[in-house]
Amino acid sequence: MKDDVIVVGAGIVGLAAAFHLQAEGLRVRLVERGGVAEGASMGNAGAFAFTDILPLASPGILRRAPRWLLDPLGPLSLPPRYLPHLAPWLIRFWRASLPDRHARSILAQSALMRLAAEAMGAMVQEAGLSGRVRHEGNLQLYESEAELAAALPGWRLREAEGIAFEHVRGERLAALQPGLSPRFPVGTFTPHWKSVDDPYHFALALFDVVMSRGATISHGEVVVIETGEEGVRVRLADGGALSAGHAVLAAGAWSRPLAKALGNAVPLETERGYNTTLPPGAFELRRQLTFGGHGFVVTPLATGIRVGGAVELGGLKAPPNYARAEAMLNKAATFLPGLKTTGGTQWMGFRPSLPDTLPVIGRSKASSRVIYAFGHGHLGLTQSAGTGRLVADLVTGRPPSTPLEPFRPDRF
Ligand SMILES: Cc1cc2nc3c(=O)[nH]c(=O)nc-3n(C[C@H](O)[C@H](O)[C@H](O)COP(=O)(O)OP(=O)(O)OC[C@H]3O[C@@H](n4cnc5c(N)ncnc54)[C@H](O)[C@@H]3O)c2cc1C
Repeated sequence: MKDDVIVVGAGIVGLAAAFHLQAEGLRVRLVERGGVAEGASMGNAGAFAFTDILPLASPGILRRAPRWLLDPLGPLSLPPRYLPHLAPWLIRFWRASLPDRHARSILAQSALMRLAAEAMGAMVQEAGLSGRVRHEGNLQLYESEAELAAALPGWRLREAEGIAFEHVRGERLAALQPGLSPRFPVGTFTPHWKSVDDPYHFALALFDVVMSRGATISHGEVVVIETGEEGVRVRLADGGALSAGHAVLAAGAWSRPLAKALGNAVPLETERGYNTTLPPGAFELRRQLTFGGHGFVVTPLATGIRVGGAVELGGLKAPPNYARAEAMLNKAATFLPGLKTTGGTQWMGFRPSLPDTLPVIGRSKASSRVIYAFGHGHLGLTQSAGTGRLVADLVTGRPPSTPLEPFRPDRF
């Protein structure tokens, strides 16, 4: 029997799209060229960062970037070889960080986050995944009162969006996370920040739910999505083809060429990120810690303690440079004296990123039967259920749950 919808890519975004399409009574087929959730969705920091509404493309980052770039293993790296390729993306990033564009992106991101939080709550409940969600909040740490003062405008913007937080010092800070280096005298606690027990296990559990509800999966690489009056045809590298009424392109950082063939030149790049997952017990971590000035987080997972982040604008092909993961681990050991740094596993993942920090959610130029759902950058886990809800809106043709204008594929 012909499927109603083919979802290209079984990362967290494709899986959440499949879940929401099934809720509409639609027959869904996933197509995945690798293992389920083995892309960016596997090794991320596991946060539902619903309060993270400030786009990376911001006036502030342009002030900080030069300092970060000076450190070859710092939070931001831009390999010179890749610079010519990246230049058009960087120009768009700069434009998106201008005050008026930045303000619009915040509004769009806030609206998507409200939907994302609501849709994730519902999905977690309906899929029986509540036991995998941790409600510990996040603690952002600063090296001085001056660093906090520099962050205050951002906190005021979050306050305007109704986000709860508390600046903490002294005993309160020590109670939220004992054993911190005195190098960090002040922090900001966001109590409603949530995270998952392990992002890979969370995605696999969602996959099991989707499969138990009748989805099918084909293993193969999609090379082109063809469109016609009656539906879509998805061609695979092995010569096979699959047909359905609609297709959803959720191939993460690899979505660009497939969208291009459908008439959309989307400036999708990848922000490569690194981490090390230490064995459980490596530190008594109470909640996720964000060392914003150093571009990494330390996350408690059921599977261990994950130390990582950083942004390497190096494209999809260059081999990983795990010295980045090591540099963050070494810093973490000085920020958290007592952290046991042995026995870890290193990982690199490809964040799918648009210059304005917003994803692409909308219809393809070639046909309204192909829906795009990619480009979530640092926030794909967080926004997966919200995106799934919007994908279901688009496929069923009902009004979108939040305005889609800011996420249009042709906005650049
Ligand atoms: C270090 C790091 C930390 C992060 N921390 C967080 C966090 O705490 N919270 C958060 O919300 N986000 C976080 N992110 C971002 C998040 O991981 C991504 O935004 C998210 O995983 C993207 O999901 P996706 O499904 O779009 O892509 P992916 O998970 O990459 O999935 C895409 C899938 O498509 C498949 N595919 C690609 N091309 C084809 C093709 N042609 N045919 C068939 N299949 C194809 C791939 O094999 C892959 O499985 C982090 C990322 C990194 C790197």
